[in-house]
Amino acid sequence: MSDKMALIPFKQLLHWVMEEYEHSGMVFGIPEEKFYRKTDGRYMELFGEAIDTPVGPAAGPHSQLAQNIIASYMSGSRFFELKSVQIMDELEIPKPCISAEDECYNTEWSTELPIMGAFEEYVKAWFILHVLQKELFKESDRRFMFNMSVGYDLKGIQSPTVDEFIEGLKDASKTRIFQECKVALLEDLGLFKHVDQTFIDRISPNICHSITLSTMHGCPPTEIEAIIRYLISEKKLHTFVKMNPTLLGYEYVRNTFDKMGYDYIQLKEASFTHDLQFGDGVEMLKRLKSFASENKKDFGIKMSNTLPVKIARGELPGEEMYMSGRSLYPLTINLAYKLASEFNGDLKISYSGGADAFNIERIFATGIRPITVATTLLKPGGYQRFKQIAELLDPLLDNQESSRLDMAKLKALAESAFEDANHIKESRDMLSRKTPLRLPLLDCFIAPCENGCPIEQDIPEYLRLVGEKRYEEAFDVIVSKNPLPFITGTICTHTCMTKCTRLDYDESVHIRGQKLVAAENGYAGYMQKVSKVDPHSSVQVAVIGAGPAGLSAAYFLTKAGMKVTVFDKRERAGGTVEFVIPDFRISREAIRKDIELVESMGVKFEFGVDPNISVADYQAKGFDYVFLAIGAGRTGNLEIQGDTERVRGAIPFLEAFNTDRGSLNLGKRVAVIGGGNSAMDAARAALRVNGVEEVYIVYRRTKDYMPADEEELAYAQEDGVIFKQLLAPVSLSNGILKCQVMELGQADASGRRSPVAKEGIYEELPVDTVLSAIGELIDYDLLKTNGIEVGEKGKIKVNEETLETSVPNVFIGGDALAGPWTVVGAISHGTKVAKAILQKEGMEFNQEFASRISFDKEKQLLEVRTKKAVLQAVRDDDKEPGRCLECNHICNICTEVCPNRANLMIPVEGEGLTNRNQILHVDGMCNECGNCETFCPYDDAPYKVKMTLFWSEKEFWDSANTGFVIIKGAPKPVVKLRLKGEILDLTFNQAGQTDGPIDGSIAAMIWTVIQQYQYLYKV
Ligand SMILES: Cc1cc2nc3c(=O)[nH]c(=O)nc-3n(C[C@H](O)[C@H](O)[C@H](O)COP(=O)(O)OP(=O)(O)OC[C@H]3O[C@@H](n4cnc5c(N)ncnc54)[C@H](O)[C@@H]3O)c2cc1C
Ligand code: SF4
Ligand code: SF4
Ligand code: SF4
Repeated sequence: MSDKMALIPFKQLLHWVMEEYEHSGMVFGIPEEKFYRKTDGRYMELFGEAIDTPVGPAAGPHSQLAQNIIASYMSGSRFFELKSVQIMDELEIPKPCISAEDECYNTEWSTELPIMGAFEEYVKAWFILHVLQKELFKESDRRFMFNMSVGYDLKGIQSPTVDEFIEGLKDASKTRIFQECKVALLEDLGLFKHVDQTFIDRISPNICHSITLSTMHGCPPTEIEAIIRYLISEKKLHTFVKMNPTLLGYEYVRNTFDKMGYDYIQLKEASFTHDLQFGDGVEMLKRLKSFASENKKDFGIKMSNTLPVKIARGELPGEEMYMSGRSLYPLTINLAYKLASEFNGDLKISYSGGADAFNIERIFATGIRPITVATTLLKPGGYQRFKQIAELLDPLLDNQESSRLDMAKLKALAESAFEDANHIKESRDMLSRKTPLRLPLLDCFIAPCENGCPIEQDIPEYLRLVGEKRYEEAFDVIVSKNPLPFITGTICTHTCMTKCTRLDYDESVHIRGQKLVAAENGYAGYMQKVSKVDPHSSVQVAVIGAGPAGLSAAYFLTKAGMKVTVFDKRERAGGTVEFVIPDFRISREAIRKDIELVESMGVKFEFGVDPNISVADYQAKGFDYVFLAIGAGRTGNLEIQGDTERVRGAIPFLEAFNTDRGSLNLGKRVAVIGGGNSAMDAARAALRVNGVEEVYIVYRRTKDYMPADEEELAYAQEDGVIFKQLLAPVSLSNGILKCQVMELGQADASGRRSPVAKEGIYEELPVDTVLSAIGELIDYDLLKTNGIEVGEKGKIKVNEETLETSVPNVFIGGDALAGPWTVVGAISHGTKVAKAILQKEGMEFNQEFASRISFDKEKQLLEVRTKKAVLQAVRDDDKEPGRCLECNHICNICTEVCPNRANLMIPVEGEGLTNRNQILHVDGMCNECGNCETFCPYDDAPYKVKMTLFWSEKEFWDSANTGFVIIKGAPKPVVKLRLKGEILDLTFNQAGQTDGPIDGSIAAMIWTVIQQYQYLYKV
C-alpha cells in the first residue's frame, strides 16, 4: 500500500467508463438513477458560455483525477474548479490528509500529482466528458466548463512548468496527451452509438479561459495584485481571486466560533495579522476591477479559502490544518456580504464554503455563482449529492449571466447564518459514529444504530414495518428484545441515534419516536395474542426490584419457562420511572402498559417487602437464583455551607412531587445544582410547584458541557428555567446562594475544557431552596451485609459476561451495578442476567421475532438506492421511517465517500455470502486520504482491510493488505493472493475453481473480478 496513485491511461479509462455502464448501468460507481439529466432546457451563462448548472467540485480532492471529474459530471456537476497546481512539483503530504467527521479539515488542497501529470488528468477528463455528454445524454453542444486554479507567488506562476500548464489548458491542441486522447477515441469509435468522427474532431482544445488564483495564507498583497494583473493582461484569462476568511479579523472569527459551539477550534492569531487586511483588500479589488474592465476580462472574487487552524486534538498529522465545511459557512457568507457591500453589490462572487443542498438555493438567489462544494461530497452519498443540488437549482436558472448581487437577500442570508441549525455545532456534537466492531473482509453491511443500542434492537426492520403500517409485526420485533416499548419509546436516551448514518446527511432518524408509534398502534393486537407461559422448570428466581432491570430479567426468564417472583419495597412496579420521573415526561398509562406486558408472561409480584434484603433468607425460601435490581436511590451530599436545611435531594423532591405536589413548599426561587437529566426534571418540576416563580440551573461548566440530553435541555429552556453557567455553589444563607464564578481552562486531549475558579469573584443569587442533582449513589452497605464484594472506587466485583457477583447464583444489574444510568442500560443488564441464568440451567435463551417477517427485497433495494445522497429535513410523521437508509441491507459508504473511486461495490454470488455486494479496494487509485476510515461504521479503515486488487506485483509487495494481483489472464488465470499474511499462488479453472486452500467466498470474489470486471485490471 502506498499513497501514490497510479494514473489510469486514457484508453483504459474510456473502456472502464463504457464497459462499467454497459455491465452495471454505472459510471465510476454513480448509478444511472443518480445521473443528472437536463430536461428543462434551462441553463446559465458564465464568461459568455452556457452551462447546464453553475455547480461543481471546488478545487480539491474531487477535481484531482480524471475519474473524480467524471463522477462529478455524471451526478450533476458542470463547473469544474480543477485542483490547484503550484510551483512545488510533487508534494509530500503526510497521510491521512482529510478529517471530515463533522466540519472538515485537510492538510493540503494542492494537487499531489506532478504539474504536467495533473494537466494530463484534466485533458483526459475533458475528452471523456464530451463523449459521455453525447453518448449518454445525446447532447452535442458542450454545457460544462473547466476553470483552472493556480497558487502562490508570481515567480512560481511564471515558471516554465506552470506556464506550460496554463498555456496547455488555454490551447491543448499541440500537446501529446490531447493528440493521444483524440487518436484513442477515433480508434475506438466502435464503442459508441452516438459519437462519431465529426463530433470528436469538434472537441475544442481550448479547455480553460478562466482561472482562480489561490493566494494561500501569507501571500503579500502586492504579490496578489501583481499576479492578477499578469493573469488578466498577459495570460488573457477571466480571473477570480480567492479571498481568505482571515479578512474578517481574529476577534470576529473567535466570537463566531464561540457563539456557535465551535469553541474548541484553536486559531492562530498570526494568520490574521500576516494576511491581507480588509481595507487594503477592498482597495486592491477596486483597482483590479477597473483593470480587468480595461482589459475586457471578467474579474471577481472566490469566497472563500479555507481557514488555517491549529491541530490540537490529533485530527491529522502535523501542526496546522485548514478548516472548511459547515463551520466555514457563517464566515464565508458574511465575508461575501461585507465585501459586496463595499461595491454596492456590483461584484462577481464565486462561492465555496459550507454550501450544500440545504442552502444552495438561498446562496444562488443572492446572485452569487458559480457555487462549488467539497465537504458535502466527502460525506456519505458522496458525489451523488450533486444530483439533488443541481436539481434544486434547475427551476431558478434564467439562461442569463448574473449582473448584480441582490444585497437584501445576501444580508438576510449572512445574518441568518449564525442561527442556522445546520451550521450550529450542537446539531451534531463531537461524537464519532464509529462502533467498536472490527471490519470483516467480506459481508460487512451493518446498521450502526443497532450497535449504538445497548440491547441491539432490530431498528431498520421495525422502522420499515412501521413505514408499511405493519404495526403489530413492528411491535413483535421490538418486544423480542425489549419488554418496555412504551417507556423506551418515550424517554429512552436513544444512543442508537448517535450512530445513525443520517447524522452525516441531515439529522438522525427519529428512531425512538417511531418505536412509540409501533407501541401505540401494535400493542392492543399483540396483547390479544400473548398468553401466560407455563413454567417448565422447577427452578425459582427471586428478582429484587421492579424497575426496568428487574422487569426485563423477569420477562425473559418467564418467557423461557422459569418461575420468577419480583419483590419490591414499594407498592407497585416501575421503579424510578414510575416513582421519580415526573408525569409530564411520561404518562403513568404508558408505564402501566409495559408492566402489563411483563405480567402477561406470568411473572409474579410481591410489593411492600422489607428493604433490609437478606439474600440468605431468599435462598432459604427456595429461590435458586437472586437478582439484585435495586437501583441507585441514595442521594449524594452537596458540599455547601450555611442553611443546609433548605437543601434537598432532587430525587426525594421528585418523588414527593409525583405523590403529593400540593403539599410542597419551595419558596419563590429555587436553584437546582447539576446539569444532567435529573437536574432538568427537578427544575421543570419545581417550576410547577405552587408559589415558585423562578428556577435556576447552576452548573460549573457552560451549557454545552451539560450531560443532559439535548431535548431535555431544550424543554427546560422552553419551560422558562434560567441557566446559570460557570458557577459553583459555595453557601446558602439568608436566602442568598453564593456561587464561585468559574471559567473554562485549556482544552485537554479530548477537547474538554475544565472549569477553573476565578479567584475572589462570586455571584449571588436570591434562592429559597436548593435542589441537589449531583448524582445518585449505590447502597454499598446493603451489598456488603450480604457478602457481596466491592472493589476499589466502589466497583462491584462481577463476572462481566453474566453479572454474577462474588456470591454464587446472586446477580446484580441496572443502576444498582452501574450507578445512575439509563432505562435501556438497565434492560440490557436484565437481559444479560436472564441469559446467564438460563444458560446455567441448560435452557434456551431466545430473542427471535415471534412472527416471520418478510419484505419485498427488490422494492427495498430500489428505495434505498433512491434515498442515498438526498438530504431531507426530519419529518416526524408517517414518512419519518422512510428516512432510514437501511444500512444493514446496503451500506456502500466507503464507495460513496472515496473521492478517487478506489472502493468499488461488486455483486458476488458465493457460498456463505449474505450481503448484496462486496467491497473491492483498488490499491492504485487510493491516496490514503483516510476519508473512508472516517465514515465506515467499523473501528477500522476499509482501505487497509477490505479485499484489495493490485495492478502490479510491485504494488502487491509494497502493501500488507489482504488482496490479489492477477498475473495471468484467461484461459487459466493465475493470481497471487495475500490472505491472513500468507502468500498463495492460485490457478483458476474455467469454472472459477481453484485448488488453493481458500474459502469458497474468497474464491468467488476473485473469480467475479477476473470474469466480469476486466476493465478493472490489465494483465
Ligand atoms: C430524575 C431522573 C430522570 C431520569 N430520566 C431518564 C430518562 O429520561 N431516560 C432514561 O433512560 N433514564 C432516565 N433515568 C434513569 C433511569 O430511570 C434508571 O437508570 C432506571 O430506572 C434504572 O433501572 P433499575 O431497574 O436499575 O432501577 P430502578 O428503576 O431505580 O428500580 C429499582 C427498584 O428497586 C426497588 N428497591 C430499591 N431498594 C430496594 C430494597 N432494598 N428492597 C426491595 N426493593 C428495593 C425500588 O423500589 C425500585 O422499584 C432517570 C433517572 C432519574 C433519577
Ligand atoms: S439510517 Fe436507519 S439503519 Fe442506518 S443507522 Fe440510521 S436508523 Fe439505523
Ligand atoms: S480508499 Fe479511502 S483512503 Fe483511499 S482514497 Fe479512497 S477514501 Fe481515501
Ligand atoms: S463503509 Fe464500506 S467497508 Fe465499512 S461497512 Fe460500509 S460497505 Fe463495509
